[in-house]
Amino acid sequence: MVYLATNEMMGETMSECIFCKIARRELQSQIVREDDQAVAFRDANPQAPTHILVIPKRHISSLAEASEQDGELLGHLLLMTCQIAQEQNLESNYRVVINNGAGAGQSVFHIHLHLLGGRTFHWPPG
Ligand code: 5GP
Ligand code: ZN
Repeated sequence: MVYLATNEMMGETMSECIFCKIARRELQSQIVREDDQAVAFRDANPQAPTHILVIPKRHISSLAEASEQDGELLGHLLLMTCQIAQEQNLESNYRVVINNGAGAGQSVFHIHLHLLGGRTFHWPPG
């Protein structure tokens, strides 16, 4: 029997989620950092010279689905993103983005932080 997550997965099961598969190394990706809670890997369709996705190993479908208990994990993801930016020599010029919901550009429903760097960014992002 397929285990269904309690949070919204856009009709997907966790066993089908591509980012869960990347975290389990069932799908190939260029992993740049990993620890017990999180994995960071290069985006397959980079929007900047450096474009890395940082995900929790545990499936949370979106920021809106995160709860109080996830606070420490979310902080961990942010700090890991900052460490990667330093390792990637982005200095202090980089952008961290979370798209929440299809209307805001979310296409993969496993929460992820985009780390973008290596070019100039404009505001508003559009
Ligand atoms: P979103 O649009 O949900 O904020 O971001 C999803 C990101 O995941 C996109 O930038 C897209 O290029 C990336 N992506 C989608 N599928 C894969 C994949 O199989 N491997 C990798 N490395 N990135 C992916
Ligand atoms: Zn997932």
